[in-house]
Amino acid sequence: MTIPKFTSHTFQLNNGASIPAIGLGTWQSKDNDTHEAVKYALRHGYRHIDTALNYGNEKEVGEGIRASGVPREQIWVTTKLDNHWHHRVSEGLESSLKDLGLDYVDLYLIHFPCSTDPADRSKHLPDWDFVKTWQEMQKLLGTGMVKSIGVSNFQISHLERLLSDPSCKVVPAVNQIELHPHNPSSKLVDYCKRKGIHFTAYSCLGGNTKSAINAHTNLIEDPIVVKIAQGKNKTPAQILLMWGLQRGSSIIPKSVTPSRIGSNFEMDGWSLSDDEMAALTQIQTRAKVVGDGWMPIRVFLGDDE
Ligand code: NDP
Repeated sequence: MTIPKFTSHTFQLNNGASIPAIGLGTWQSKDNDTHEAVKYALRHGYRHIDTALNYGNEKEVGEGIRASGVPREQIWVTTKLDNHWHHRVSEGLESSLKDLGLDYVDLYLIHFPCSTDPADRSKHLPDWDFVKTWQEMQKLLGTGMVKSIGVSNFQISHLERLLSDPSCKVVPAVNQIELHPHNPSSKLVDYCKRKGIHFTAYSCLGGNTKSAINAHTNLIEDPIVVKIAQGKNKTPAQILLMWGLQRGSSIIPKSVTPSRIGSNFEMDGWSLSDDEMAALTQIQTRAKVVGDGWMPIRVFLGDDE
């Protein structure tokens, strides 16, 4: 395999758009930290920022983008439709654009295949589900407000259902999913490849171990990851990120720490061997960062292994 220069590499989506391989995640980035992290990352060379209405920081992301001085057209911005906005897709996007201070986003995702009732968030929205949400998402294409549309946290059964519905005219360009050696989701990844859906890896460092919703992964301390890192004089984080990139996923590591934003972007001029990739893929520990206990329906159905 010829290893690309990942800091400038893009993955081509099924609609011809090109998503930068490395982005900055912003979940749990707060206030001024978000602004500073986004500005620092863009000045450092990142060209891809991931946010969501649910993160409550789109305003600070937009400020960071403007403060960076990097022209808007050089930056890929992803945001996501929150669960209790599923029947108000256009309004959800307009709200995000207003907070971001942008005219368009490069990628708009259904955050979870769960349509929550805004009047009572412990309940599912009556007579609605993600297939209807996707019908509304498709209408956004051509409005100028989005360049690409996709999904997030969709398992194989969700995608099967969506793709087989006659109302589905546009195959999602991206499925953004939790992917790391403790949650490799190989079947789901293979399914996405077969269907021409690019996959973006979230929580690829194992998430914020101080406040993970579900199990702590302790991924960054996994003995196999640490051993490979020591042997190559790289950080465990860099090993995890390279595993994701060489697997064909775009990656969106989150950090508000300048030194980590920098080191997470040192992805050129080295690679993992086939044996190192296999050793990481064969790790047996299983743990997830994001759970579904806070939603009215189960989303993680266990059909992705
Ligand atoms: P990550 O796996 O990116 O881990 C983030 C944590 O790792 C933070 O605590 C960060 O600390 C720390 N960290 C970052 N770099 C390093 C490093 N080099 N060495 C050691 N620790 C490091 O977790 P996330 O769960 O945030 O996932 C990444 C992004 O994916 C999110 O921010 C979000 O944009 C997206 N996401 C999407 C979801 C979805 O449902 N679609 C769900 C979850 C995430 P610090 O900031 O203090 O440096």
